[in-house]
Amino acid sequence: MLDILIKNGTVYDGSGSEGVRKNVGVLDGKIVFPAGEELPEAKKVIDAEGLAVAPGFIDAHSHSDGQIYTEPSRMSKLLQGNTTEIAGQCGSSRMPWLPDAPFDSEETKDLFVSSHDYPSYAAYKADMRKRKFGTNQMCFTGHRSIRASMLGMQLRPATATELDRMKGLLAECMEEGSPGMSTGLVYAPSCYSTEEELVELLKVVARYGGIYTTHIRGEGDTVLEALEEAIRIGEKAGVSVNISHFKAMFPQNFHKVDRMLELVDEANRRGNSVTMDAYPYTATSAGTKSALPPSFLSMGIPALAEWLGTKEGVDALRKAVTEQTEVWENPIKNIGAKNFLITDAAVTKEAVGRRVSEYAAMKGLDEVEAFADLFSKNRCRMTDIRFTMLEENLEKIYRHPCCMVGTDGMYAGGNGLAHPRSFATFPRYLGRFIREKKVLSLAEGIRRMTGMTAERYHVKDRGFIREGYAADLTIFDPETVIDGATYENPFLPNKGILYVTVGGELRVENGTPVGEDCGAFLTWRD
Ligand SMILES: [Zn+2]
Repeated sequence: MLDILIKNGTVYDGSGSEGVRKNVGVLDGKIVFPAGEELPEAKKVIDAEGLAVAPGFIDAHSHSDGQIYTEPSRMSKLLQGNTTEIAGQCGSSRMPWLPDAPFDSEETKDLFVSSHDYPSYAAYKADMRKRKFGTNQMCFTGHRSIRASMLGMQLRPATATELDRMKGLLAECMEEGSPGMSTGLVYAPSCYSTEEELVELLKVVARYGGIYTTHIRGEGDTVLEALEEAIRIGEKAGVSVNISHFKAMFPQNFHKVDRMLELVDEANRRGNSVTMDAYPYTATSAGTKSALPPSFLSMGIPALAEWLGTKEGVDALRKAVTEQTEVWENPIKNIGAKNFLITDAAVTKEAVGRRVSEYAAMKGLDEVEAFADLFSKNRCRMTDIRFTMLEENLEKIYRHPCCMVGTDGMYAGGNGLAHPRSFATFPRYLGRFIREKKVLSLAEGIRRMTGMTAERYHVKDRGFIREGYAADLTIFDPETVIDGATYENPFLPNKGILYVTVGGELRVENGTPVGEDCGAFLTWRD
């Protein structure tokens, strides 16, 4: 007797092949195909007439590893059909953090190291295997933890000894099953690293056949140079590269996307594999501190928060922003306060849900004063949504054969808002980009969020509907699937994602959460 029988559905197996009308069974957590004329008995029968039966969606770029302690069930992911997450992205992971990392203060350390940190990948893996969470998770090693363990927030190149120790830390992670290293090269302190440092570290990843995934050094005015650097780093280190949340920000750079896609093609023709992921939105989201000039953050939070509360600090911020005194994306100048929506703030709760321009008007401040005030009062503990991109570019990016789908999602929980991508990436991709805009066929669109991602990240026995594979399945209505979440209210429900199983356990039934957390922690090639 089967555990679940899914009958009459159109099965998309994740390979990009067209849908086939077929019955799918689930037995002991695995996929089986019932043989013979007569349907077997099953404890649960799902009639999928008119519905698409797909492998559970794989999030190519997730930050859920940060929320596992507060939101272990990850219902915001399961309710969008997401069953496996590739986490530890943008240079941020809970490991390896050395206890004696040289930070200027506990406050700075608290802001950059999460309250849950682990000295090694082995310790992280052991803890993950004890915990219960909703989706399966694989996790990269973040460059930030490796660098800050050695150098704290110091704005300087690593010495030869420090670099050796960093390589040792990374090798330990790779031994324990890390898929590779991620970087977030617009974020302090990773942005203080040189190209040479990254090449040396990635040679370690190359030795283990791992992968480099990177939030490149600039997605605005320097996006072409930053992409060239990422590709060059991959070639020098001999490691394949994934470009995270591929984009060009700010109107003056929108035209650069064509050249960016050519650079990816050229790299692949030269023989080093380059892929990318993208989320289906034209707004980014980040900790608001990343809008500051990087040199400011090297002061440490106590000194910086105090300084930005003085006239001298406000003047320095104004000069840096208006005169672009150092290399950074400078979003305060490039999109202005009206395009920053504050989603969470530690102290100034009146700013949450408002644009920074509204906050400025409320307080009788000009734009730069408003940012300085927010950084100072919240001691840099804020998140925001920034409206920075062009939808036509996103369509081009999704059409490119090397692009997977990722959420870049981070769910704040509690009182704060969050970017809708954390709740609705997959239904939005399927409804808006596949059905309405027809950027790809449904079969190929499904591959970009299942089989392709599984192959890229060596997610074994998942990502495809095949006999004996783990029964991670998402059943949805291709005619009605669409996102519900908006920037103003990310908690509105999606439409059309009807059933989700993880390892054979039913977790979503008729669009409603059921069952218990049963996600697995996955390692590289195991
Ligand atoms: Zn990123």
